Amino acid sequence: MTDQWQVCGLPSFWLSEMVPLERRMPLRSSLELDVAIVGGGYSGLWTALYLSELDPSLKIGIFERETVGYGASGRNGGWVSSIFPVPMAKVSRQYGRMTARNLAKELVETVDEIGSKVADLGIDCAFTKAGKLSLIRNPAQASRSIAEVEEDDEIGNPTSTTILDKKETESYLLATYTTGATFSGACASVQPARLVRGLATALERRGVTIFEDSEVTSIQSGSLRVGSYRVSADKIVVATEGYTGRFSQWRRQLLPLYSMMIATDPLTDAQYEQIGSPPLGLCFADHRNLRIYGQVTSDRRIAFGGRGAPYHWGSIVRKANDVHGPTRDVLQRELIKLLPQLDGIRFVRHWGGPLGVSRDWFPRVVPNQDGKLWRIGGYAGDGVALSNLVARVTARQIVGASDKSAASTVFARQERKWEPEPFRWLGINLGLAVTRLVDELEDRGIEAKRIDKIRRILIGQE
Ligand SMILES: Cc1cc2nc3c(=O)[nH]c(=O)nc-3n(C[C@H](O)[C@H](O)[C@H](O)COP(=O)(O)OP(=O)(O)OC[C@H]3O[C@@H](n4cnc5c(N)ncnc54)[C@H](O)[C@@H]3O)c2cc1C
Repeated sequence: MTDQWQVCGLPSFWLSEMVPLERRMPLRSSLELDVAIVGGGYSGLWTALYLSELDPSLKIGIFERETVGYGASGRNGGWVSSIFPVPMAKVSRQYGRMTARNLAKELVETVDEIGSKVADLGIDCAFTKAGKLSLIRNPAQASRSIAEVEEDDEIGNPTSTTILDKKETESYLLATYTTGATFSGACASVQPARLVRGLATALERRGVTIFEDSEVTSIQSGSLRVGSYRVSADKIVVATEGYTGRFSQWRRQLLPLYSMMIATDPLTDAQYEQIGSPPLGLCFADHRNLRIYGQVTSDRRIAFGGRGAPYHWGSIVRKANDVHGPTRDVLQRELIKLLPQLDGIRFVRHWGGPLGVSRDWFPRVVPNQDGKLWRIGGYAGDGVALSNLVARVTARQIVGASDKSAASTVFARQERKWEPEPFRWLGINLGLAVTRLVDELEDRGIEAKRIDKIRRILIGQE
């Protein structure tokens, strides 16, 4: 198995599937723009798209340190889901039931918005709305999933999650220890790198300029620097998610937490039948606390990922952290525990990357005082769809269009910084260890509610 991204020069299986990749020119002179966007991932590209729709006369430039999709957007699990990183029950407690319900509705609609944009722009990224199956594999997972569905019903969440019994669940996927599942139709899957690269091509057709190998080295209201070149812009949008902490002024805003993935060879006909012939494009997981996520890809592979890789001291983000042997081994074991029918299958690639997590796990759209510098992100690993919603809010606000969405209310929330080291390192890594422990106890039939509460405090979710 190849697990060094350097071997083929690209940081994910999805990107390496697209070789040869077009490489765009770096910035080679100083420049004046209406809008300068830092970061060539979904956030930056969707923002450029909606801005260009709202005002086609805008001169927009995007600056990407490496290549489009180099970050999480070219590496993720491909779940285009209506998941919000904070439970809707909490959103409801803080903003009221109506705002929570409207936000949930906007998230559900975002999945279809992406589907229709992909169709309109002719982006071939295997967008398939096959739904999300979350297996129930122990009693604690059962009570948690029932509570989640009840909370959703309480606020009128339109994700229309239903509880399936064992037989109904097995009509989707034949997994071990499964007593049932929750199923939501408000979820599609994509080949994520094809989405982000396709978006970039579509933007260029609309006159947006994208500079690659163009690291933004400093940013202030009204201007930024790419090496020795100065870019002045009426508005600047910083969309660097897990990499944002590299700018000294935002070191403690978004914590880079790593998520890791593996991909199998395409399943043979026999293997595919043995796991229950799941619909292609199906997203699957179970209700454990340390999140896992799988996708049955359009070419019948299993792309499978999970959290749990260590947080690195000082929020350091570097290429060496994009792979993690122990997490790769855990993922391979967990997939085979879930689907033992695949025992012996070849894993073709391991990769990972940083997510951006805010101190309270809420995503944000943050303008500075003069409204010229905007920072967006903080999706905590749920940004494939969420970045589209954030981008629409950002674009509307930048052009001064009216916006009565619930999203704009919630994303305007006051920011909090993460604690300085060593508290950040201790809290997060202890939190990850405790999360793993809670899952193990739950698998043994022990509900560990008190320990779970400690876990939530440690990782900043309480
Ligand atoms: C392994 C993994 C699996 C995931 N699975 C899912 C999933 O299934 N569903 C889901 O909803 N979310 C998932 N996520 C999260 C999702 O991918 C992200 O939330 C989303 O892609 C964030 O997009 P972005 O554009 O904000 O950030 P990114 O895609 O990270 O883009 C930021 C870009 O900024 C560039 N950059 C950084 N610094 C500079 C600089 N100084 N100058 C210029 N450019 C710079 C980077 O190179 C990068 O390309 C996953 C993430 C990972 C890592």
